[in-house]
Amino acid sequence: MVGNTYFNNLIVTVINASESDEWQDAVGEWEIYDCEEDEDCCSTCICGKENIRYLYTIRNIYNGEMLFPIGSSCINKFGRRDLRDETTLIEEQFRLLHAVESNRYLSLSAEFFSRKLLRWLYEEGAFNTSYNQFDGTEDYEFMLKMFNKRDKDAITTKQDRKIKAIILNSIKPFLQERLKEKIR
Ligand SMILES: [Zn+2]
Repeated sequence: MVGNTYFNNLIVTVINASESDEWQDAVGEWEIYDCEEDEDCCSTCICGKENIRYLYTIRNIYNGEMLFPIGSSCINKFGRRDLRDETTLIEEQFRLLHAVESNRYLSLSAEFFSRKLLRWLYEEGAFNTSYNQFDGTEDYEFMLKMFNKRDKDAITTKQDRKIKAIILNSIKPFLQERLKEKIR
């Protein structure tokens, strides 16, 4: 199938499940409901495109219809920045979890972290532990300050130890718990 066929399939499938018969309006009716990761990438998007990794469920806010699985490149075709930002944030969560689980990555680089991801982790309570009486504000502010440092060489050994401890003791178990049912 050529690319246009995928796009046509997407348009037909989405409009059929929407209240509006116009693509431009139909795309406004949907929200992201869930996302799972297929590590073997053997799933097929509702548009017919094969081998997608992130399997989103989207939900129509007016009639409750669900579409699954849909990939982020099709969600991006809705032309909505809010949905695109959300898929970026969700996929960052999976990538960070895999990185910390394989111990490949235990520092704060832009390859796996973003300000939005740190903010999300904070808001979801990922930094709250018994060591800080379940108030992760200081740890979050510390991580943000370290992330924002232009010169990463200016991070001291002590600060680096603290970064690794927060990633291992707070972020890793939080993501494991949050994503455990969502990885196939
Ligand atoms: Zn697709």
